[in-house]
Amino acid sequence: MPPQTKQIDKTDLLNNFQIENIIEAASTAQVLINTSGEILCHNNEFDCIFPEIHTSDNLYNFLKSTENKRVKHLLSANVPNFNLNIQIQEEKKIIIYFKQIKSAEPSIYLGSAKLERTISKSELVQNLIDQIPDNIFIKDLDSKFLLANNWIARIMGQNSPKDLIGKSDADFYPEKLAQKFRKDEISIIQSGEPLLNYKEKVVVDDEVRWYSTTKLPLFDSNGHITGIMGIGRDITTSVREQKALQKAKKEAEKADMLKSTFLANLSHEIRTPLNGILGFSQFLRQKQRDPEKQQKYLDIIMANGKNLLLLINDIIDISMIDSNQIAIKKNTFSLNKMLDQLKATFSQQISNKGLDIKIEIFKGLPDSDAEIYTDEVRLNQIISNLVTNAIKFTHEGKIDFGYSLEKEDTLHFYVRDTGIGIPEEYKAQIFERFRQVDESMTRTYGGTGLGLSICTGLVKKLGGNIWVNSKINKGSVFHFTVPYEKKTEN
Ligand code: ADP
Repeated sequence: MPPQTKQIDKTDLLNNFQIENIIEAASTAQVLINTSGEILCHNNEFDCIFPEIHTSDNLYNFLKSTENKRVKHLLSANVPNFNLNIQIQEEKKIIIYFKQIKSAEPSIYLGSAKLERTISKSELVQNLIDQIPDNIFIKDLDSKFLLANNWIARIMGQNSPKDLIGKSDADFYPEKLAQKFRKDEISIIQSGEPLLNYKEKVVVDDEVRWYSTTKLPLFDSNGHITGIMGIGRDITTSVREQKALQKAKKEAEKADMLKSTFLANLSHEIRTPLNGILGFSQFLRQKQRDPEKQQKYLDIIMANGKNLLLLINDIIDISMIDSNQIAIKKNTFSLNKMLDQLKATFSQQISNKGLDIKIEIFKGLPDSDAEIYTDEVRLNQIISNLVTNAIKFTHEGKIDFGYSLEKEDTLHFYVRDTGIGIPEEYKAQIFERFRQVDESMTRTYGGTGLGLSICTGLVKKLGGNIWVNSKINKGSVFHFTVPYEKKTEN
């Protein structure tokens, strides 16, 4: 016979379990109270979030008086369920959801508890100021940080605002800078007056940054200053932009001024030869019979016409250089012959003008090696421009020009004079267009300021460099280089 099995009754089984066991087994915090608020039992989870409370304690002892009244009322009214908030610390509260599990007297409530983190005021302030992309801080009367945000911490090379607390600028910045900050703050503490939106330059490790800073005194309820609050906005980009704008404005004004001077000079340079041409043509029309005088007038008209043509050529050249349209046409020619011809032309010019200047040339290569391949017209133009200037700015002494071979592949040309010289600060500028040492409207020497910038453009186009050495009242030496190429034309 099979053994008799006893049918287990479900109610029996449940009755065998104590409610304490069920609470103990629960994975969430549970507490059991009676209507008098007495803690009947609680589990480990509850202990973890509310260690102050023990079995047999009374819940009322942990509540504020207003909450006490409410709970007492709810329990006596036998309400089926209610919630309870217990604030433990500023940022910690426990919420317990009570449910009546036995309504007959004495009734029992089972509470499921949950710990909730609330954000404290100081955390809220810190979060808030960390979000603002400005340097924000509060300092005490000794200029020590009480509060700071992420931005200022980062700028001061720290990982977190906490690294600043209790320290002062002197712990992070160079001494002089920290002293300046402290001085500003002392003046605020002494005067009680804020410093509003002032521009501050901060140089650390050679890096310049600009801030728009506001520092305000903080007062307690008695009106005493307790510290300083500061807000600084990084305005480096806008300061840099402003400076660039100012520079560009100055440059534009200078360029405008140079253009006006240039136009004034130009009209003068055009009018002078034109007046010569018109004046002497007029003389010729007056039926001048003396053939010698006639010839002289024709020579003057011719010379003035040539000057005018040179000027017009200069204007065309500079616009071609500016628009990168100048073409180099290389050919093979004798450099030594070119120098001889230039010497002859300029010696003639000097003697025509009755100047007390000697001209000398230096040929750095024998005739056989001086057959070079480059743009003959442009090389002639560069040397002519420089020698013309040398004559213009020299009253007595000597002008010599020539070349030598350098490193086998470069021809180094020079034009030396014993003239007025060039002030140090103009040595670079004179190679720019329209620039002259004397940029006043009442200049001693004429000219348009185009010659050297044309030379620069042409030398570059030929593949060389141009520069000047000069001493005031002693003279100048203009140098330029051109690649030494020998090529026989087919
Ligand atoms: P321009 O001679 O028409 O003024 P340039 O461009 O040839 O124009 O020269 C620019 C300026 O450089 C001259 O106005 C002058 O102030 C200076 N300069 C050029 N050559 C000499 C020189 N040999 N000696 C002194 N100053 C010179």
